[in-house]
Amino acid sequence: MNRLPSSASALACTAHALNIIEKKSLSHEEMKALNREVIDSFQQHVNPGFLEYRKSVTAGGDYGAVEWQASSLNTLFDTQGKEYLDCLGGFGIFNVGHRNPTVVSAVQHQLEKQPLHSQELLDPLRAMLAKTLATLTPGKLKYSFFSNSGTESVEAAIKLAKAYQSPRGKFTFIAASGAFHGKSLGALSATAKSTFRKPFMPLLPGFRHVPFGNIDAMRTMLHECRKTGDDVAAVMLEPIQGEGGVILPPAGYLPAVRKLCDEFGALLIFDEVQTGMGRTGKMFACEHENVQPDILCLAKALGGGVMPIGATVATEEVFSVLFDNPFLHTTTFGGNPLACAAALATIHVLLEQNLPAQAQQKGQMLVDGFQALAREFPDKVVEGRGQGLLIAIEFCDNETGYSFASEMFRQQVLVAGTLNNSKTIRVEPPLTITPEQCEHVLSCARKALEGMRPRIANINYAKIC
Ligand SMILES: *Cc1c(COP(=O)(O)O)cnc(C)c1O
Repeated sequence: MNRLPSSASALACTAHALNIIEKKSLSHEEMKALNREVIDSFQQHVNPGFLEYRKSVTAGGDYGAVEWQASSLNTLFDTQGKEYLDCLGGFGIFNVGHRNPTVVSAVQHQLEKQPLHSQELLDPLRAMLAKTLATLTPGKLKYSFFSNSGTESVEAAIKLAKAYQSPRGKFTFIAASGAFHGKSLGALSATAKSTFRKPFMPLLPGFRHVPFGNIDAMRTMLHECRKTGDDVAAVMLEPIQGEGGVILPPAGYLPAVRKLCDEFGALLIFDEVQTGMGRTGKMFACEHENVQPDILCLAKALGGGVMPIGATVATEEVFSVLFDNPFLHTTTFGGNPLACAAALATIHVLLEQNLPAQAQQKGQMLVDGFQALAREFPDKVVEGRGQGLLIAIEFCDNETGYSFASEMFRQQVLVAGTLNNSKTIRVEPPLTITPEQCEHVLSCARKALEGMRPRIANINYAKIC
């Protein structure tokens, strides 16, 4: 049966929503009603599929767990007043914590002045952020294009590389197996996961994938492409693969890729959407080995967990293809004043509080702890690994990983693991997490492992994992 559109009903919906937004707290009855309503609307109007995947529903108790507010830099409350320690960091967006006061204040001040730009007058914050990024990023990176997400920052990088290389007769892109670069058709062509790609094939032509971390495979691919006339326009890599399960390349790999790119006249694009902004213990992960890309993609934590913003930063040599016609690639909201205010404040906080170095220290503490647990529970945990606060715990199988993540959720610690891929659980807390909170995470992890059903004896799990 067709529903008639009803402005009266929609008005009732918006009035109800505005009322909820304005509320500082909820009574028990209001909480129950809201949680029921949220689950029902996810079922009816968002996507029922999510309800099966979210631990907040499957392990969220009688009413499910519905998000309500940030309670401190590193914690958040649900509508029932339960407080969670955030070790998932919105998949890496909360590097400076939730509602960091410096970021919130900058955004509030800008909101009072002018939230979005006229598109005709010159917007000052775009200018200041572009200059800041030129100063902050390594090497000759100098010009920035702003967008609203990681995917868009990758999309812009692909288009920039194409515009630069097509007059040179180079059209091929090399990315890595296990890579994640986003899900728009262009970015998805670089992303390597079959599940995400298959329904949308054919994707952009000219994309090849090589095993990550294997320099011989990269060299061979560059050679083969030259032989067939499919010369390589650009190599796109995450310096450390994030969604792929926190995969660190062997030492020397990234500098060797840089050398190969120079040899073949290919551009090097680093997607630091997840590894950037201090996450791995340096402001940018490529700084660990002093490798400088021609194009750098940023997003996620750049907006300080307050505003969405993406940036594609490139050298003058490459970016100058957009000088003649700056309208070649544009987006209405990209680089808007609120987003730029958030990014400027975020960078300020990262630098002033030396958060990248803090990530290094606290990350070491967590990785050491997870490695100790791996030795203690070899039938469940394969290893703990990571750099800075981009950390993974690898389990023997999906089931073990999923019950670990669920146990952590019951102890009110959020970690990243889904029903789909729970063999590797990611731990990506705000860089502001305290050492005491790190200890708490480790003790919860121990409890989770101790509480999990013991595996059947005398099977050698090391062998079958
Ligand atoms: C998350 C991510 C993206 C996509 O960013 P969105 O903001 O979700 O579009 C791209 N690349 C990497 C490395 C990411 O981790």
